[in-house]
Amino acid sequence: MKVPFIDLQRAHEPLREELLAAFANTLDHGGFCLGPDVDAFEQGFAEVQEVAGCVGVGSGTEALHLIALAMGIGPGDEVIVPAFTFIASAWFAQYVGAKIVFADINPQTFTLDPEGLEELVTDKTKAIVVTHLFGQAANMEPILALAAKRGIKVVEDAAQAHLAQYNGRTVGDIGDAGAFSFYPTKNLGGLGEGGAVTSRNAELLEKIKVLRAHGSKERYLNHFVGYNNRMEGLQAASLNVKLPHLRGKTARRQRIARCYLGGIENPSISLPVPARYGESVYHMFTIRHAERDRLKAYLAEEGIGSDIVYPHPLHLQPCFNFLGYKEGDFPVAEELAKTCLSLPIVPELTDEEVNYVIEKLNAFQ
Ligand SMILES: *Cc1c(COP(=O)(O)O)cnc(C)c1O
Repeated sequence: MKVPFIDLQRAHEPLREELLAAFANTLDHGGFCLGPDVDAFEQGFAEVQEVAGCVGVGSGTEALHLIALAMGIGPGDEVIVPAFTFIASAWFAQYVGAKIVFADINPQTFTLDPEGLEELVTDKTKAIVVTHLFGQAANMEPILALAAKRGIKVVEDAAQAHLAQYNGRTVGDIGDAGAFSFYPTKNLGGLGEGGAVTSRNAELLEKIKVLRAHGSKERYLNHFVGYNNRMEGLQAASLNVKLPHLRGKTARRQRIARCYLGGIENPSISLPVPARYGESVYHMFTIRHAERDRLKAYLAEEGIGSDIVYPHPLHLQPCFNFLGYKEGDFPVAEELAKTCLSLPIVPELTDEEVNYVIEKLNAFQ
């Protein structure tokens, strides 16, 4: 049996006719950069994600960049970023010339650890980036309390966390702003690049709208140095076709995760620990194993796709050498990078495939 790690064809095949009809509609109305499809998506996504407002942009990375600009973060400022996340969480600070201050993650949730966070705050700290990693919401309450006390903004990197909940609230507008990605492999993915900024702060969202379109509020009158960062009509059209399926797809990911959690009984494998404050939406189902590379090779031999997400913690990335961090600085992040392995969890997997993965993992010696 072959179990794919990712299979976009399988996800798209049942939607083919609906997608083609949506593209034909976009061709007819001609709104290719912003336009009616983007308007509909911004409204639809805000409703489904239960956030106050949503602005569509070119990618998740650019959502983070525009939030940093809109918050006025820049040279001389410091931003706290988890040491284990996708690189774009750190671009938030780097793109605007702020100094990155890395912090370790919690060994159970793999998200920013509130423990020890206050010691990293200085008078220059302007923002904390929390990543809801692998679909698991970060432990927001203590982080928000610290931020409120010290007058710091909290930015949610929610690129892997569509519909994720924290204490009964959907992520994306719990902090000051949220960044979503609609890269094809995300829990809600388009057919190319796409992203969104979400927030309760209408003023901030207005600023994002200006920044994404050349800093212009009025045609050919530019109030700010802006960017070309609009969401494309065809992307929004594809997302509008997929959005109604997000809840069902998320529930399927969670069902597969429960099968893994209940079925994997190999004592050499560490399973992810669900947080008390909200179930993960399982963008990834990430296990740990002392001989991760041998396990990965074994799974490949049995026809099972898996991926190392991520093999390097951010403080040891060559591009951040100039920050002067070294091995040993963030032991939890470093250990996870050495032992993590993500299993197939796309919602299109069959029960038979899921059971096959469990069987092969339990047979691994
Ligand atoms: C994917 C991702 C991003 C970037 O999103 P893009 O749309 O690919 O630019 C940012 N942060 C995290 C945690 C991600 O997983």
